[in-house]
Amino acid sequence: MHELGILSSMLKTLDQIMIDENLSSIEKVVLRVGEISGVVPAYIEECYPAAVYKTKYENMQLEMEVVPGIVRCNDCKKEFNAYLHDLKCPNCGSQDLFPLSGREFMIKEIIAC
Ligand SMILES: [Zn+2]
Repeated sequence: MHELGILSSMLKTLDQIMIDENLSSIEKVVLRVGEISGVVPAYIEECYPAAVYKTKYENMQLEMEVVPGIVRCNDCKKEFNAYLHDLKCPNCGSQDLFPLSGREFMIKEIIAC
């Protein structure tokens, strides 16, 4: 499980944003998490309390927007919804796939107090 590492690097990014934007605290952070980004939203939620424990982000709310994983088959050109554990074309069975969306993991929005 690498979600704790992902969260701690996200908090470092927030540190930088707080300096850059001169914020005193952040009320809420909204993340965009792609279904095929390799990050599991449920694990992020599970790790979050530990990641922010005794930091200045302890009271910050976390919200996640899940972006569907859409891939296109390079063989039959069909586009379909994909999950990480099932990455093959439902039409022809090919694993030669091109991701169209759902690979992102990013901070979408920050709401400061
Ligand atoms: Zn196909």
